[in-house]
Amino acid sequence: MPIATVNPATGETLETFEPLGTAEIERRLAAAEAAYAKHRTTGFDERARLLNRAADLLEEDAADIARTMTTEMGKPVKAAEAEAAKCVKAMRWYAEHAAELLADEHPAQADVSDSGAARALVRYRPLGVVLAVMPWNFPLWQVVRFAAPALMAGNVGLLKHASNVPRTALYLEDLFRRAGYPEGCFQTLLIGSDAVEAILRDDRVAAATLTGSEPAGRSVASVAGDEIKKIVLELGGSDPYLVLPSADVARAARTAVTARVQNNGQSCIAAKRFIVHADVYDDFRDRFVAGMRELTVGDPLERDTDVGPVASERGRADLEELVDDALGQGASALCGGGRPEGRDQGWFYSPTVLTDITPKMRVHREETFGPVATLYRVRDLDEAVALANDVPFGLSSNVWTRDEADMDRCVRDLQAGGVFFNGMTASHPGLPFGGVKRSGYGRELSGHGIREFCNATTVWYG
Ligand code: NDP
Repeated sequence: MPIATVNPATGETLETFEPLGTAEIERRLAAAEAAYAKHRTTGFDERARLLNRAADLLEEDAADIARTMTTEMGKPVKAAEAEAAKCVKAMRWYAEHAAELLADEHPAQADVSDSGAARALVRYRPLGVVLAVMPWNFPLWQVVRFAAPALMAGNVGLLKHASNVPRTALYLEDLFRRAGYPEGCFQTLLIGSDAVEAILRDDRVAAATLTGSEPAGRSVASVAGDEIKKIVLELGGSDPYLVLPSADVARAARTAVTARVQNNGQSCIAAKRFIVHADVYDDFRDRFVAGMRELTVGDPLERDTDVGPVASERGRADLEELVDDALGQGASALCGGGRPEGRDQGWFYSPTVLTDITPKMRVHREETFGPVATLYRVRDLDEAVALANDVPFGLSSNVWTRDEADMDRCVRDLQAGGVFFNGMTASHPGLPFGGVKRSGYGRELSGHGIREFCNATTVWYG
């Protein structure tokens, strides 16, 4: 895949970039190693000062970088601005909380006295140079979600960003440099995915994190496994959205539209499968489909656009294959089902609701990365939970109910890294984020996320 900025709303190639050669990669690995040797010894106050400075700069740049993101991957500009604001918040959150999240842990003396320790503690030390392989769908957020905790913990970062967001990738390196981070603390490597293996195998790289597709995750995780290096994986999702009889159906349907089409439907935590109890099915279906029909599809730089194009031609083709497979096997499109009329340029796809889904259809078990929802009617909670779990993924889940017993049952039985009641899944710096099954392993954000790239060191005093 060439490293290039191609506007998905027009298909026009705006800029192409040469990948770094081996000598430049070597220079940057050496810079990362040297930067780590110093950064690991700095205190939390100094790290917080730098990260807060980066947050201030990003806040000033928000409007410009939002337009860059929209031009590179097509998200509505309002959503891009919200993404920049979210990054600012996460940076400030980690600047404020990292010291407390990584404070020494002191086990009760009574619990460890038979180890012979006069005293013992656990100290969270950094791991070193961490390679981040990141996707294009939230081109700022996915990186900041890694970088803010990693830098606060005393690690340094090497970013291999997706090949279709090079301008955003270069902006991030520049942001951290302008904030005052010493050279080598955060570097962008403009490289293709074929260069990742050698970098991950390099002894100067301690660990990796990857957000993206299952094949990318499998490939990078197998190299990390071979090298016995720590890795965090945040892969795809096909999150269920359960609507049960006691739900506020109007609110559930309104939220469902946003939960499905946010980021033009290209979010790992988007609700993708809508599983609705028969008692409220007709009401939910009518409201949901009406909401999907009302969306404004168009130029993502326009402020009243709800849904822009899919990020790449390949991405739209994948989506079309999934929908066409379902329609060819008897599914019905309650709205959408193809490209919007009158949009010959760019990679647009109409907001779509599919029903009459059977397990043989690919959409039943595969992730739809675009504005396409599947809608199911179920008899009871048992059937809802079984259907919710009948995918290889387990990222998050959403449930609409006021019934405490239903809630307990869902927390116990839904195979996912999150269960969100009466709202849609959203990440917050203070809450862990990640999945089970093919959605990956490890956690980002919160104390769980910052400790992923730490060496929890037992310190024992005789
Ligand atoms: P990829 O998983 O291919 O890309 C994500 C990142 O991984 C990019 O930086 C990419 O680099 C890199 N990469 C890809 N393959 C390898 C490899 N073998 N070794 C090392 N690095 C690799 O995502 P796509 O853009 O192709 O999207 C395809 C599907 O992935 C989507 O339809 C969706 O299902 C899923 N996805 C999930 C995301 C999530 O948030 N969990 C985000 C994006 C995609 P390069 O761009 O150079 O190929």
